[in-house]
Amino acid sequence: MEHRLDEVRTEVLRRNPGEPEFHQAVTEVFASLAPVVAEHPHYLEAGVIERICEPERQIIFRVPWTDDAGRVRINRGFRVQFNSALGPYKGGLRFHPAVSLGTVKFLGFEQIFKNALTGMPLGGAKGGSDFDPKGRSDAEVMRFCQSFMTEAHRYIGEHTDVPAGDIGVGRREIGYLFGQYTRIVDRHESGAITGKGLSWGGSLVRNEATGYGLVYFVRRMLERHGRDLDGARVLVSGSGNVAIAAAERVASLGAIVVGMSDSTGALATPDGIDITRVRELKEERRTTLTGYDVPGARFVSGATAWELARELRVDVALPCATQNELDADAARLLVTAGTTVVAEGANMPCTPEAVRLLREAGVLFAPGKAANAGGVATSALEMQQNASRDSWSFEHTDSRLAEIMDDIHDRCLETSIAYGAAGDYALGANIAGFTRVADAMLALGVI
Ligand code: GLU
Repeated sequence: MEHRLDEVRTEVLRRNPGEPEFHQAVTEVFASLAPVVAEHPHYLEAGVIERICEPERQIIFRVPWTDDAGRVRINRGFRVQFNSALGPYKGGLRFHPAVSLGTVKFLGFEQIFKNALTGMPLGGAKGGSDFDPKGRSDAEVMRFCQSFMTEAHRYIGEHTDVPAGDIGVGRREIGYLFGQYTRIVDRHESGAITGKGLSWGGSLVRNEATGYGLVYFVRRMLERHGRDLDGARVLVSGSGNVAIAAAERVASLGAIVVGMSDSTGALATPDGIDITRVRELKEERRTTLTGYDVPGARFVSGATAWELARELRVDVALPCATQNELDADAARLLVTAGTTVVAEGANMPCTPEAVRLLREAGVLFAPGKAANAGGVATSALEMQQNASRDSWSFEHTDSRLAEIMDDIHDRCLETSIAYGAAGDYALGANIAGFTRVADAMLALGVI
């Protein structure tokens, strides 16, 4: 069976050339599946594994728009609708110059299992564009979003496919996208997109949900090991939506955020970070961390967050920037700095080699598809509120999020125990996510 599994993997890689991130995500999931197919060979026999690796639909389209100087620009738009066995396609849109079909496929593939782990009725998808919102005016971003949606509206809908944000797509972009969608379809279909503003169908906590959820997952993981976050020294990479919310929540539980980073460098804050100041720089002024002028802090231009571990003690590392940002060298630095927990806020931020080193060093490792599922889970809560024309309080929504994260944690841990690898959260997440989708696919027949 293991041999057959390997043949399937080789075939998937062969049929999807030039997509290293997709290969990495597929290889990582397949590494956990041997014990599953040994016990349940029908997953292989019924072709479920091959089908899960083949998106149901892949859409690539031209996005023309005009910049402020009147010049016509062309970007490429993507939506990969990967799997709808559990519910409507669901997953964010990423606007970043490095986005390619391979990037979107890796993210969409991860999203299938992440969404399954939430226990909610969500299929898996992802989309985006190689458009770079950095340095663009509001008017340019609006024209781009309107052009993107002029094509994308054909494929989305509250029962079909429900996009949300990801890197480069925040409240502002969701507003322009939803505005254009509403205008084209000529009805207020609030469940067609999530991450909306509060006055136009959004949910409290959605904005903070990925970062808060990450912290709740870590809290549960530590609790199971008789520890807590009080006084823990936490290093966070990135300073986008996920990183800021994670830093804020972890600090509110008594931890000390000893550093954050952005694309220009890393900020060491050995006495703890002033997250209000970070929010102001990043969310209001849309500038870099160089402007962080709180006494006791030091900005290291060009450095990664992990390089701060040379000089700082770090108990918990939260990679919240982007894929493959934490490599083997970074993992070694963290282990030397005393790190005992690494939990992924971004999607696939740790390289396979880094994960191997962390595991060998006995570090507790929480994979993104489990630990960062709070964002999409709260999107599902937003969809519930939209469907019932209700809006829940912050406390209620936040406590639902915390419960969901505890459940995801427990499901991963119990699955790892059932498969003889207690505490291997990556294996537990892959198997628990996979079996939920695979069982639905089996029940639905060959579609
Ligand atoms: N982009 C987020 C993720 O990676 C959220 C997706 C959503 O809310 O649909 O899970």
